[in-house]
Amino acid sequence: MKIYTIGGYEEVGKNMTAIEVNDEIVILDMGYDMEAVIEEDNEIEEMTTKDTIKAGAIPKDKEIHQKSDKVKAIVVGHGHLDHVGGVPKLAGSYDCPVISTPYTKKIIQRMVREDRKDLNNELVEMNTGERRKVSENIEIEFVNITHSIPQATMIVLHTPEGKVAYSLDYRLDKEPLLGDKPDYERMNELGEEGVKLFIGDSTRIDEEGAGSSEKTVKTELKHTLNQAYNEGGGVFVTTFSSHIERLNSIIDVNNGRRKIAFIGRSLKEYTESGEEIDLIDLSNIEVASYHNEVEDLMSKISRNKEDWLVVCTGNQGEPRSVLKRIATGDYPLEIKEGDHVIFSSSVIPSPVNRANRYKLEKVLKEKGARQYKDIHISGHALREDNRDMLRMLKPDNILPAHGDTEMLASYAKLAMEEGYDLNDNLFICQNGNVLEI
Ligand SMILES: [Zn+2]
Repeated sequence: MKIYTIGGYEEVGKNMTAIEVNDEIVILDMGYDMEAVIEEDNEIEEMTTKDTIKAGAIPKDKEIHQKSDKVKAIVVGHGHLDHVGGVPKLAGSYDCPVISTPYTKKIIQRMVREDRKDLNNELVEMNTGERRKVSENIEIEFVNITHSIPQATMIVLHTPEGKVAYSLDYRLDKEPLLGDKPDYERMNELGEEGVKLFIGDSTRIDEEGAGSSEKTVKTELKHTLNQAYNEGGGVFVTTFSSHIERLNSIIDVNNGRRKIAFIGRSLKEYTESGEEIDLIDLSNIEVASYHNEVEDLMSKISRNKEDWLVVCTGNQGEPRSVLKRIATGDYPLEIKEGDHVIFSSSVIPSPVNRANRYKLEKVLKEKGARQYKDIHISGHALREDNRDMLRMLKPDNILPAHGDTEMLASYAKLAMEEGYDLNDNLFICQNGNVLEI
């Protein structure tokens, strides 16, 4: 078995791995690196595939591309852009289906539309708990897992040389508010059957303990919103646009007290895709995305700000996001003293995000708004969750992924505590390596 560690082994972003067994290849994820795009100050859909590769925004798939006739399937674990964002750029040069859960498929379809590209690959839907043969020798299985986007899955490859389990990204939420709990039963069973290789999520490995549940975030959101409503003034909430579970919690805890507006392009797109498959109900929500639409809705809100709960993009302080632009006075809606801004998110730890958030918080402070931060739990497994996962799957070999070298090394340390030996059955790779097991 050969493992091509194409992307996501030197950064949080642009995940892509390929597994080759007996002349057959399956590609796992095709992500892009948001930051490389932000730094270039480009819109990724305006960039050619070559430019995006050059900017470091999408994985360098040259080596696997040379064997493209052997590639039997591209399998995407969930709809976050660092897992799926490369599909419109790269998938077209492989003559094989792209397999994902239904919500992820909707995201792929939208990205392809925005990219104004035709993608000839068949987009195949598969639900968690299902299996599908993709070639003579390889079968794909989806095992239900929880994450911060609907319908995330652990991908298991059944091959003649054993099983490969790939779990980017996951958290172990025992009380999810949307979708089912992680499939502990199947994961334990896989551990009994034998897993040859596990590719695990290093992103939050340095955070001690185990993650809590979405249910606790909802309670915290409720208290914060109650306080803000009691004080009065405008209330603005920002979170990740694809976090449908969280958006449902915001709607729930508002409990009809204020009218709700969803403002921002990504917010509209992710929630409308979700509504199409009954993950969220937008019937009582005003959604605005295009410039005029946004201006009109904001004018309406500004006439009676205390009647509204504004949910908008900008949780990372992105310069062109709605929240940033409201804060800097670009719109007919103002944030001022007595208003409340709730960040139902954490800062994705990178220098660009930290700088952007710092600038946004500074402006909000100058305006005199009250800020509530980090009403959130991470979508990624913390250190003890990762340990639980290793104890369930009991893999023969471990390959940490989805992190920079320090994060991968930290994951390796955890694996060593669990009895694994570096370079024997535990491996740290870089982008562009080929590991043979
Ligand atoms: Zn993710």
